[in-house]
Amino acid sequence: MNWRDKAECLRTDPELFFPVGTTGLALIQADAAKRVCQRCPVQEECLRWALDSRQETGIWGGTDEEERRLIRRRQAREARRVAS
Ligand code: SF4
Repeated sequence: MNWRDKAECLRTDPELFFPVGTTGLALIQADAAKRVCQRCPVQEECLRWALDSRQETGIWGGTDEEERRLIRRRQAREARRVAS
């Protein structure tokens, strides 16, 4: 069984996960999507996949685009620190 088969968002309006814009309704939709992710049994797998596949849009694993950018930057910094 694939982790996606257990995704909580399969039972949710997909538009919540791809809000258009960064203000108003888009913020409300993003918060609603993140709340769905919080109760999702495969949040960790989803976030790992989103980071590995560099998903640039949408809510994945409880994070939005900017949050994933910050995580990737932190991971890159940590990788450089370990390598040096
Ligand atoms: S963590 Fe969120 S986006 Fe990922 S599968 Fe679960 S509900 Fe869907």
